[in-house]
Amino acid sequence: MSISQKSAAGVKTNVSTNNGLIQPGSFRVIAGPCTIESYEQFVASAKAVKQAGYEYVRGGAFKPRTSPYSFQGLGEDGLKIMSEVNGELGLKGVTEVMDASDIELVMEHAQIIQVGARNMANFSLLRRIGEAIAGTDHGVILKRGLAATVEEWLLAAEYITSGGSENVVLCERGIRTFETSTRFTLDLSAVIVAKRLTDLPVIVDPSHAAGRRDLVVPLSKASVAAEADGLLVESHHDPQEALCDAEQALPVEALMGLREALQPFATAMGREVL
Ligand code: PEP
Ligand code: MN
Repeated sequence: MSISQKSAAGVKTNVSTNNGLIQPGSFRVIAGPCTIESYEQFVASAKAVKQAGYEYVRGGAFKPRTSPYSFQGLGEDGLKIMSEVNGELGLKGVTEVMDASDIELVMEHAQIIQVGARNMANFSLLRRIGEAIAGTDHGVILKRGLAATVEEWLLAAEYITSGGSENVVLCERGIRTFETSTRFTLDLSAVIVAKRLTDLPVIVDPSHAAGRRDLVVPLSKASVAAEADGLLVESHHDPQEALCDAEQALPVEALMGLREALQPFATAMGREVL
């Protein structure tokens, strides 16, 4: 696969990953806390995700924090919490890997490996991940870099797919602009452009884009209309106490309401919210 080989015929709505994360005619919602803080915190947040009817829960154990003085994540202990809770609840996990030496460890505990925006251009990491997931059911969510063009983002994905697995999902998470009323600027046109250029599914992270919870549901609706294949959204059982990204986390009630809010838009687009 190469972006230069893709047709520009139109937006692809029937994309899928062959590990089932993204299915044709569906809109996949992945929700959960920014970071895994403790067993109690993760189990409470994951139960809300399950109760809301979602199958995939997110949570970082290795956190790419802007400041080295901020909470950096629980590392391996966090991954163990994730796999234990997910085993109990029957959920699948999405978590970030920052260092190539942790890829195998992350794969032991989670189904989907996230590559963060700050690592989109870490080409040796991307290659190593591509080699590691080849022949497995694991998939990758590749965030768009804070200042990456669509072409750079798609080429980064090809570092992973060149390992042999096509289970890669692109994630638009906002880019840096002059605007200060939101944390980043959600670039929905990039979702549509990317889908014209590649068969890889494209999802949206409205939480990091907005940086504020009041915009998450409206941006999620807009993402459905922009032909996105799903969402990666932050939620927490007690956002006030969240150690990371507290302002953008959806509380439990809002997470429960998300499906209902999205369904009319999904129906209009011929999709079912998973
Ligand atoms: C995250 O999803 O927790 C995260 C750090 O996102 P990004 O890499 O998009 O900033
Ligand atoms: Mn976060």
